[in-house]
Amino acid sequence: MKPGLSDKQKIKFLRKRYNDAFDLLENASAWLKKNSELNQQKLQLLKSIRQQRLSGFWTAENAEKEKKLSSATREYKKMGDAFMTLSGFVENDEKAIKRLGGRLQKRVLGGVSVARSNSNSFARPRESHESQVELWKAKAKLYDGESRQGTSELKIALKPELTKYGKCAYCEERLFFEDCQLDHIHPINKGGFTIESNCILVCASCNGRKGALSLRAFCKEANFDFERVVTRLEVLGKHV
Ligand SMILES: [Zn+2]
Repeated sequence: MKPGLSDKQKIKFLRKRYNDAFDLLENASAWLKKNSELNQQKLQLLKSIRQQRLSGFWTAENAEKEKKLSSATREYKKMGDAFMTLSGFVENDEKAIKRLGGRLQKRVLGGVSVARSNSNSFARPRESHESQVELWKAKAKLYDGESRQGTSELKIALKPELTKYGKCAYCEERLFFEDCQLDHIHPINKGGFTIESNCILVCASCNGRKGALSLRAFCKEANFDFERVVTRLEVLGKHV
C-alpha cells in the first residue's frame, strides 16, 4: 500500500485486494479438490517405490518414476501452501478493513468462513483452470512489494527448527540462534516470499555467499550437494 493514503482510500485498496485474493483462493481450492485424489495415488506410489529402494530393489525406471512423482506431489504441496497463504491474506485484509471502520461484503468458501479456514474447507469446485504459474504470479503481485511478515518475527518463528536440526542447512556447520541469519531459499528478487516455507536459518557465511543466487546456483558455486541440501530442507518442511 502506498504511504499517505486516507482511511477511505486504504479501505478501497484493501477491499480490492481482498476480492482479488479471494478469487485466487477459490481457484486454488478448486485445483486442490480436483487433484486431491490423484495426488493421494501418486503419494502411495511414491511410498511404494521408496520402500522398494530401501529393500535394495532399484532400477533406472524406478529412479525416473520417483523423480516424476516427487516433482508432481511437490507441486501439490506448493498449491496447498498457496491456499494457506492466501487464506492468511484474506483474513488479514478482512481484519484491516474492520480496524479502519470500513464495511466489507464478506465472502465464504463453500459455506465455510475463510477466517476459520483449514485444509478441510476446500469446497465449491469451479471449472476454472488457471495454471499454477499464473496463480503464483498473481499471488506475488498481491504482496504489493511489502513483506507481510517481518523477517525478525519470522526468525523467531523458525527458532524451533534449530532444535530439530542444529546446523546450517547449507554447509552443515553447528548453528546457534544468536549467530544465525534468515535466508530466503527462493530469493526475493526472483519472486520468493517471506513465509516460513521459503525461509531458513543459516550461518552468516552461507547467507552472504548465497545472496540473490538460486538454491541450485548457490550449491554449485559453494560446491554443496544440491540433492542433499534439498532433502534436508524438505525434512524441515520447506517447499523447494
Ligand atoms: Zn552455512
